[in-house]
Amino acid sequence: MSKLPQIKTSIFTVMSKMATEYKAINLSQGFPNFAIDPRLSDTVARLAKENVHQYLPMSGYPPLLNKIAVLVLKSYHRNLHPETEILVTAGATQAIFTTITALVHSNEEVILLDPSYDSYEAPVLLCNAKPVRVALNDDYTPNWERIEKAFSSNTKMIITNNPHNPTGKIWTDDDFVALETLLQKYPKVIVLSDEVYEYITFEQNHISVHSREKLQNRSVVIASFGKSFHITGWKVGYLVAPENLMLEIKKVHQFMIFSVNSISQVAISEYLDVVEVSKLGSFYQEKRDYFRKLLQNSRFEVLPCEGTYFQVVSYASISNENDIDFCKRLIVEHGVAAIPLSSFYGDAKDEKRIRFCFAKDNKTLEEAAKRLCGV
Ligand code: PMP
Ligand code: GLN
Repeated sequence: MSKLPQIKTSIFTVMSKMATEYKAINLSQGFPNFAIDPRLSDTVARLAKENVHQYLPMSGYPPLLNKIAVLVLKSYHRNLHPETEILVTAGATQAIFTTITALVHSNEEVILLDPSYDSYEAPVLLCNAKPVRVALNDDYTPNWERIEKAFSSNTKMIITNNPHNPTGKIWTDDDFVALETLLQKYPKVIVLSDEVYEYITFEQNHISVHSREKLQNRSVVIASFGKSFHITGWKVGYLVAPENLMLEIKKVHQFMIFSVNSISQVAISEYLDVVEVSKLGSFYQEKRDYFRKLLQNSRFEVLPCEGTYFQVVSYASISNENDIDFCKRLIVEHGVAAIPLSSFYGDAKDEKRIRFCFAKDNKTLEEAAKRLCGV
């Protein structure tokens, strides 16, 4: 009998495979298609000839841990102990999986806010725990009344994702105050804060759990170098947790992976000396604005996008098809791949909305928009 009967092949696999099959422009799975910073690729080329090919310490390459501490201090004014509060992981995906399996017990409940990224549910189910899905408001802001109602004495964790995939929504200070107030009543509840798009924000600043004193000592914050340095395929990220939680997380990490790819860690560590993460927001803001402008003459309704490299659009005035069928037809008939939003909901809610990734060079965005204007 399957341990995960309800889990299907990820929508990212399905849509990317179909995009390749039909030679469509792939705006579905989120990854950049442009060259990475030569300072990073040159470092890798040099390191390949150096002695960096063996296991690194379990928690991460020590200079990288130190530089992550500096980055978090600069970005959010939070002081971290590199050895006890930071863990380098094989991308945010492993950080999420390891955190949930280490901390959630059987029959406990984990609150997910729908639409939610697809990596959260499976590890919860593997723990024999229960995902409790709470719908966000129609504008994708958190509905605090509904969230409070979903809490119970069995709640162990709430998973937040800010800036939000797929909708690009960013939490406000009021949202954090609401969470902090609610959690005062639930002392054992842990926050898993997925902040992989922390540096991809536009008009509004990202508020990190790192800067919330009331949350820091009960939260695991997850980051990904894949998003911040355009290197999704390297699969390197990290998590930050207070020492008591980290001890448990490391018990799982050491037997899941032991240590993360050495050459990538050393390269990222050197790159952190020269890169300016604060420029990432304006880089992607230009792409967002350009893509939105290109879609102006299409029949899609372009929804707000405050952060991430995803643009959600509504096709309600174009077709009545469900969003999966619409996305499949978009690939086959128009040569553009997107992600249906229903795949981010526990109940597959079909809002006639789909997500495009605009982390692409301008030529690709132009050709994709030309095709989309013909829909
Ligand atoms: N969380 C969110 C919200 C994501 O969008 C992604 C990937 N796009 C991940 C986690 C996983 O990140 P990684 O590729 O570093 O495993
Ligand atoms: N997080 C990426 C996205 O949202 C996909 C990562 C994956 O393929 N698992 O598109």
